[in-house]
Amino acid sequence: MTAVVAVIGGGIAGCATAAFLAEAGAAVTLYEREAIAAGASGRNSGVVQHPMDPVLEPLHETSLELYAGLGHGFALPAEPSGILVVAHDAAPLSADFTALQARFPVLAPEWLEGTALRAAEPTLAAGVCAYRLATGRPVPPAAATRAWAERARAAGARVVEGEAAVLARRDGRVEGVRAGGRLEPADAVVVAAGPWTGAAIGARPEWRPVIALWGVVAQVRLAAPPGHTVEQAGVESLTQPGGGPASLFSIVTVGGASAVGSTFTPEEPDAEAIAPQLVERGAGFVPALRGAAIERVRSCARPLPADGRPLLGPVAGIQGLHLATGHGAWGISLGPGSARLVAEGVLGGSVTIPPELAAARFGAPWSD
Ligand SMILES: Cc1cc2nc3c(=O)[nH]c(=O)nc-3n(C[C@H](O)[C@H](O)[C@H](O)COP(=O)(O)OP(=O)(O)OC[C@H]3O[C@@H](n4cnc5c(N)ncnc54)[C@H](O)[C@@H]3O)c2cc1C
Repeated sequence: MTAVVAVIGGGIAGCATAAFLAEAGAAVTLYEREAIAAGASGRNSGVVQHPMDPVLEPLHETSLELYAGLGHGFALPAEPSGILVVAHDAAPLSADFTALQARFPVLAPEWLEGTALRAAEPTLAAGVCAYRLATGRPVPPAAATRAWAERARAAGARVVEGEAAVLARRDGRVEGVRAGGRLEPADAVVVAAGPWTGAAIGARPEWRPVIALWGVVAQVRLAAPPGHTVEQAGVESLTQPGGGPASLFSIVTVGGASAVGSTFTPEEPDAEAIAPQLVERGAGFVPALRGAAIERVRSCARPLPADGRPLLGPVAGIQGLHLATGHGAWGISLGPGSARLVAEGVLGGSVTIPPELAAARFGAPWSD
């Protein structure tokens, strides 16, 4: 019998899950309250990179393989352009570098200074220290999500844009979703609604394992942009519970457009006011940014998980409800790998979701 599956959320997690489900023969409807890639999946910095967490590494590797065969106009650069992790202060950066060498030799960490650094990346300011990691493939911010949505459509999924959906449940199992005032019955529901996942399943207010961590990105065009993706050290601490400073510099260039980021705040920021500050601060690392005209500003919310890792698969206390969310700062880098795991689980495959990633670790979302 054909499984009927509703997916809530048209970001990368929802679109890729819908594609895998439809390709496996399920009758899939995806509901997106605005438009495909309206959230973080269309407004991010656009780099597919290693997540610096051994538990997440397999999701990244699978995602790279899946991107290579994605099609629908999506082109993943064959080789990483490299990420330069930068700081003004050498001592903490050097400690960070030594730790990474031991933990992730696969990233071939390479300390660069003096003339070697200037030769590798001439756009950096004097006095900036850096190490290089063999990861980081820049892609246009919405490209992957749109391609997954197209792939879902091509496999027969119905994609409904401009309609919010919420979970409908009864007697410990899903009934389907409520959308546009109707009950749309489904055997299984996958919720991939980013930071709005708790609301989409009608969870009690205290059950919020995924919250919003807002970010602003300013897009500029430089005559000679950095050849690497450049990231100020510290992003891992920012996207963990407890957080860190409210802003860290990054610059990612695709097709001549450079995305300069980014902020990390629980409240939605005043993006237009913040964007010039990001570019000005960035000039301390890449002097060509000084006075650069901003051609676009993007603001969106990362789905920040309470313990730093995604929530995948079945939810405790109910049959037929699955999550694909909580990718924080790494959703473009991990989303397809997660989506495939979730889709296999929905269709009853013999898939094992690592306990550190299982959505059920946060308990039942309701008290009844
Ligand atoms: C500034 C910034 C830069 C980033 N840069 C990178 C990067 O370079 N590389 C990387 O890997 N990651 C990056 N990320 C993280 C990445 O963008 C996210 O992890 C990823 O996009 C999350 O995807 P998602 O599908 O889970 O959520 P979202 O993209 O938020 O999608 C959820 C969707 O659900 C919809 N929705 C919500 N409620 C409902 C409802 N009730 N009914 C229907 N639809 C609903 C929303 O409208 C939204 O479109 C960045 C994030 C930010 C903020």
